[in-house]
Amino acid sequence: MSVYLSPNFTLQELIVSQTAARQGLRNLPGPGERVNLERLAKTVLQPLRDHVGRPVVITSGYRSLAVNRAVGGSSGSAHMSGLAADLHIPGMSVRQVMHTIKGLQLPFDQMIDEFGSWVHVGLSTGRNRHQILNARFVNGRAHYTELKL
Ligand SMILES: [Zn+2]
Repeated sequence: MSVYLSPNFTLQELIVSQTAARQGLRNLPGPGERVNLERLAKTVLQPLRDHVGRPVVITSGYRSLAVNRAVGGSSGSAHMSGLAADLHIPGMSVRQVMHTIKGLQLPFDQMIDEFGSWVHVGLSTGRNRHQILNARFVNGRAHYTELKL
């Protein structure tokens, strides 16, 4: 049975992790993280989905500490609080998705073009900084620069 956080987003799709499955890692959010996932779905993902009228594919939402380590996520990653999602929208470029999120004035603390492949969007537990960043590999390390959209 699916648990819906918003009309088009289930709890399952925001916690499923290929890395967790492959490595046998637990990836179950606690009550607080679950509330955060619902906030993310209701204030960011669903309005985006409603606007574009097509599926928003989540490639990573909640990450337990173990899963975050396994995927090489940053130590303070909002994914661990259930406040971030990596996503793409088939038929739209990373930049088109970012322009859409910005244009809709959706809340975000950080929105990142991750290696030209997907968009990371995260909320803060406090005040959202509205940082827009570009992540690229430089000499094998992720390098973040501010991005003007
Ligand atoms: Zn992310």
